[in-house]
Amino acid sequence: MIEVSNLTKRYRGGTAVDDLTFTVEPGRVTGFLGPNGAGKSTTIRLILGLDRPTSGSAMIGGRPYGSIERPLTAVGALLEAGDLHPTRTVREHLRWLARSNGIGERRIGEVLEATGMSGAARKRAKTLSLGMKQRLGVAAALLGDPGVLVLDEPVNGLDPEGVVWIRTLMKRMAAEGRTVLVSSHLMAEMALTAEHLIVIGRGRLLADVPTEAFVASH
Ligand code: ADP
Ligand code: ADP
Repeated sequence: MIEVSNLTKRYRGGTAVDDLTFTVEPGRVTGFLGPNGAGKSTTIRLILGLDRPTSGSAMIGGRPYGSIERPLTAVGALLEAGDLHPTRTVREHLRWLARSNGIGERRIGEVLEATGMSGAARKRAKTLSLGMKQRLGVAAALLGDPGVLVLDEPVNGLDPEGVVWIRTLMKRMAAEGRTVLVSSHLMAEMALTAEHLIVIGRGRLLADVPTEAFVASH
């Protein structure tokens, strides 16, 4: 479970996240919907301890992300692609992540298999297509077999097959009882993916409702 309480992030120029309070329950896909600039990425960065809130808190399973001992085994995250070492291979990247989290080599083979990346294990990051980078990002998120999955705009730039693949994966993860939070600015995509919606605009909570109820009223 993810608990966000009175979370606020102010920058010099304004307020990106404004007194947000919501919880993300396990067992279903929760969509985090809002237009570009609404504050979704900032909220996700705060949840993942990549940024400090101005006030309020974000907890995962009752703890701040920063105090989780082997974070990859608790939380899998997919952020915008970009933090890949260009000359490292797919397998080397996963091995590098696995090592610091006590995750063994066998699991690397499993996540390569589960993401359809087995054939690309020896490819260098700089030679991967965007779709393959996304799959590698998902493989990294699954490495620790985490109970919580957080994905920031995962379908951006993906081909239709990739979109369906990632949607199916999120639903399966949720059906297994995991907590799944996925952000998007696309209402139609969220209607197909999420059972529950957290909707924000200008950093503020606009709705926290079953997707069906939101779709029916818009
Ligand atoms: P979203 O992910 O919904 O597109 P963001 O969280 O990226 O929205 O951005 C929310 C608002 O915060 C935007 O107005 C953005 O310009 C601003 N913002 C985000 N990061 C920073 C930063 N590091 N410094 C200043 N303003 C920022
Ligand atoms: P199967 O359907 O036979 O389990 P998959 O291709 O779905 O095969 O999975 C292969 C391996 O990838 C599994 O052994 C599992 O460890 C891992 N895996 C698959 N799906 C997930 C998931 N949703 N979360 C974590 N690990 C997964």
